[in-house]
Amino acid sequence: MKLFKKMRGGLSCDDVMEVLQSYLDGETDTETARKVASHLDECTDCDLESSVYQNIRVSLSTNKAPIDPVVLDSLRQFGERVSRGEID
Ligand SMILES: [Zn+2]
Repeated sequence: MKLFKKMRGGLSCDDVMEVLQSYLDGETDTETARKVASHLDECTDCDLESSVYQNIRVSLSTNKAPIDPVVLDSLRQFGERVSRGEID
């Protein structure tokens, strides 16, 4: 069960996770993009998650080497932490 979460940039980590993909694709509106950027500035967890997504996107777009297993593992672990409510 999730308790209260810290809000950064006016968004919770859950909020950021929901829009992160769109944000990285440049599909969010300006206000949302600003809030997400602000959150990522202050939140190490989401900033890491953002980096992981970007790595995957680069891997996919360049179609070079397969995704680094270390990156996949950190993504999986992050997802598990979020689902357990360990991310503040
Ligand atoms: Zn966060």
